[in-house]
Amino acid sequence: MIQLAKNIIPAKEIIDKLKEYQDQIDSLATFQLRSDKAKNVFSTRNRIGNKVFDAVKVKLTEMCSGARRCVYCEDSVADEVEHIHPKDLYPNLCFHWDNYVYACGNCNGPKNNKFAIFRKDNGNFHNVNPQGKMKATEPLEGNDALINPRIEDPLDFCILDLSSTFKFVVVAKGGTDDAFKADYTYNEVLRLNDREFLRKARENAYTNYKSRLGYYTTKKVEGVAQDKLDNLVLNLKQEAHPTVWKEMQRYHSKGILKSIDKDLDDLFIKSPEALNW
Ligand SMILES: [Zn+2]
Repeated sequence: MIQLAKNIIPAKEIIDKLKEYQDQIDSLATFQLRSDKAKNVFSTRNRIGNKVFDAVKVKLTEMCSGARRCVYCEDSVADEVEHIHPKDLYPNLCFHWDNYVYACGNCNGPKNNKFAIFRKDNGNFHNVNPQGKMKATEPLEGNDALINPRIEDPLDFCILDLSSTFKFVVVAKGGTDDAFKADYTYNEVLRLNDREFLRKARENAYTNYKSRLGYYTTKKVEGVAQDKLDNLVLNLKQEAHPTVWKEMQRYHSKGILKSIDKDLDDLFIKSPEALNW
């Protein structure tokens, strides 16, 4: 799961059109009507050939890492407009640009209507829509318990274990809201640790990033032209699983990389510019 750029916004006429779509939902009298309408009308608007959603997808693509990778798993191609706040539960956010990310079907499908909050009245963790419930009900008020990659950095909540497991480990103190939020997001909703192919893909990405940095460093020492080096950097930035690269940088900066991978740590010392890639 990767934090997305904040300064990418569709043209004003697209935002205005989204607002027009949204107003059609907001004008309905009951939550149930608004929820049903959001579900129905979104699928009819979100189609190839709809100019608004064609434009939305262009902007969501600009936000993606690598070759249009999914914001959540960073592995598969992103091809579904995903609502961070599910549209059934939050029909008032169905056509809000800030509520969209580009995700893959493998992540978007199981996420579906899962959402949780910390209740405003008592602070308790609360599943907004318990599983098995057929109809969405109006959510209670509270702060989101799902990490939002449009406004938050997922790596403030977890660290990726680069030493052996390539699983995400919650860094917040047990029992705190941040710990609940990280566990709910990474493990319960997105299953980023127990989908084995993702764990394996992160392990492979580590090797790929390391060999690309090694190749770049060798070529730099050989004195190859800057434009060729720039190209190597560009290629590295197109790799899937950018979180793995970010963690390689963070481990080096924190001084913990040398104890688990001295060769990689040395590469960052020889090419410190790589800490800004
Ligand atoms: Zn995905």
